[in-house]
Amino acid sequence: MKESCPEKMTRRCFLENTAKLYFTIGLPSLFLDYGKAEASVNTGSGFEPAYLKLHKTGELKKRAEALWAIMESCELCPRRCGVNRHKGMSGVCQAPGTTLIISASHPHFGEERPLVGEGGSGTIFLTHCNLRCAFCQNWKIANLGRGSESNIDDFASMMLELQEIGCHNINLVTPTHYSAHILKAIDIAAERGLRLPIVYNSSGWERLEILKLLDGIVDIYLPDYKYWDSDMSAKYSEGAESYPEMTGKAILEMHRQVGVAKPAKDGIMQRGLMIRHLVMPNNTGGSEKVMEWIAGNLPKDTYVNIMAQYNPVFKAYDYPELSRRITKEEYIKVVEKAKDMGLTNLDIQGYWWLK
Ligand code: SF4
Repeated sequence: MKESCPEKMTRRCFLENTAKLYFTIGLPSLFLDYGKAEASVNTGSGFEPAYLKLHKTGELKKRAEALWAIMESCELCPRRCGVNRHKGMSGVCQAPGTTLIISASHPHFGEERPLVGEGGSGTIFLTHCNLRCAFCQNWKIANLGRGSESNIDDFASMMLELQEIGCHNINLVTPTHYSAHILKAIDIAAERGLRLPIVYNSSGWERLEILKLLDGIVDIYLPDYKYWDSDMSAKYSEGAESYPEMTGKAILEMHRQVGVAKPAKDGIMQRGLMIRHLVMPNNTGGSEKVMEWIAGNLPKDTYVNIMAQYNPVFKAYDYPELSRRITKEEYIKVVEKAKDMGLTNLDIQGYWWLK
């Protein structure tokens, strides 16, 4: 990388080298030390993130404190474990008390195109997870908790570094159990110049009471809608029987807060709801029902990413019905259903690799 770069790495140089490495070693995303990058706020003209107003009034700090207090008898997510995270206790998510552990922070070029643009989605992978799916595609981070201990100041600095390097947003992966840390870090980062939209990249299984504390802070909600059937969510996600119902309600609240996702003129998303649905083998996610629900409860131009990349990893082989990739027919059936239901804003990935 050094051969073709000047001593002070520019954004252009960084992107060229990232692209070269990306195509050379074929990784979906990369962790790089981006050093002294050129400063720029890559959000398009006239954009102001939602949180800025609440930061200026002091409300953002208050909301962060309210979420922090909830961890004393933790109810940040639908598990409502009631453990005292202030005293170092862990609940189902296995987050170690209030200690913040981050796995990686980097521009991600494998996310939805309107989040990626030219500069990448500024992704921060938080460790641990409350949903604990047997087929977790990110299991080393979410279940094993692989990452490094961090603190709120460093978390804020990460956000600012991603902005400096030219990313279009701050994409917080698996944020629910760290929502208090997130708000504290945004408050610090906003004071130091953060102006990128916040992407709340969650499993969708959220409590309404907590989502209401995020109102006016999150710009883009990026929830999954994984299951239609509560027997399935209970079976594959450690007893999360309430997933279908609570996720439906959570998605409606997210839509109320940010509305339909519409990209700006340059194609970059700045605000709105973007739903993800991972098609699973043998219809374990109830994909067609999920499409019916979206079409019946949200505007027809709601952004829906129908994902084809299911891979049987982690404990998926404990369940014969989960132990293979999906077929092309399974994927196409879901896409056809979504179209039949009148959904018009579908992110349909290439599925040429499916058999
Ligand atoms: S965030 Fe973790 S500790 Fe808190 S209720 Fe959820 S699973 Fe339990």
